Amino acid sequence: MQRILVSACLMGRPVRFDGRAKTSDDELLATWRAEGRLVPFCPEVEGGLPVPRPPAEIEGGAGGYAVLSGAARVLTPTGLDVTNAFLAGAHAALDVARAMDIRVAILKEGSPSCGSLRIHDGLFRGNAVPGHGVTTALLQAHGIAVFGEDRIPDAAAHLRELERPAVP
Ligand code: SF4
Repeated sequence: MQRILVSACLMGRPVRFDGRAKTSDDELLATWRAEGRLVPFCPEVEGGLPVPRPPAEIEGGAGGYAVLSGAARVLTPTGLDVTNAFLAGAHAALDVARAMDIRVAILKEGSPSCGSLRIHDGLFRGNAVPGHGVTTALLQAHGIAVFGEDRIPDAAAHLRELERPAVP
């Protein structure tokens, strides 16, 4: 059985920057939870950041790959550089995924760590731009498929492919 890495905030854990959760009531997620497939994980907390914490965005809305390559930082509204914590959290997520042979993740869309289609533009004005979070970028770079919570049916289709018996 393939296990699935899931943003802890989607599982009801109050780990977001504002001290809240973003609990998903998705039925597939509930089924997978009952099957024991889900591995909740919060990269920012595992990277050493507290709850609550200041919001953070990737400068220039440059995306997770730019952070991984050292071309962009992750900053709070006052300019505090939290890049190292974001990188540490991303690597911790990859370590967990590798240890459990996880090949699929469902992560909170829009987050500077967990976003897979959208992040923010780095100016703290609520504007979304296309891009990946830091953890998503690292997981994808290592062959792990990442889906946002609004793409759970796509994750299910991918999971079926992974679990399809090999034709002899
Ligand atoms: Fe949720 Fe990811 Fe943000 Fe943690 S880092 S609170 S799991 S979106």
